[in-house]
Amino acid sequence: MADCLFCKIANHEVPASIVYEDDSVVAFNDINTEATTHILVIQRQNIATLNDIKPCHDQIVGEVVRRAAAIAAERKISAGGYRVVFNTNREAGQSVFHIHLHLIGGRSLGWPPG
Ligand code: AMP
Repeated sequence: MADCLFCKIANHEVPASIVYEDDSVVAFNDINTEATTHILVIQRQNIATLNDIKPCHDQIVGEVVRRAAAIAAERKISAGGYRVVFNTNREAGQSVFHIHLHLIGGRSLGWPPG
């Protein structure tokens, strides 16, 4: 998608603090960090929201989720705890319409979210 910010980050057309990438997944620090660790994990493929996920996407969704857990382990926040969030559409606060998993941790997190 030509105008998608996260596609451009994945393609290195827009700079970002990338912490992991492979052929299908990219992870980078959120520019407005909410915690010591606040990383966005995306699939390279442009899919707008979780509502657009189909069975053919099962593998990539699994890769995104497993990558978030792997990064949490690398950061040594797995045991203490962390949160992963897919904001979906406007009322949930989604502002970039390329599915991204927020990985947030490194501090105590309140519940429920606002
Ligand atoms: P959401 O509101 O769930 O769609 O999350 C989008 C996230 O992207 C927000 O947390 C933003 O801070 C983050 N963001 C926006 N632009 C950039 C950027 N250029 N680099 C890294 N993170 C960004």
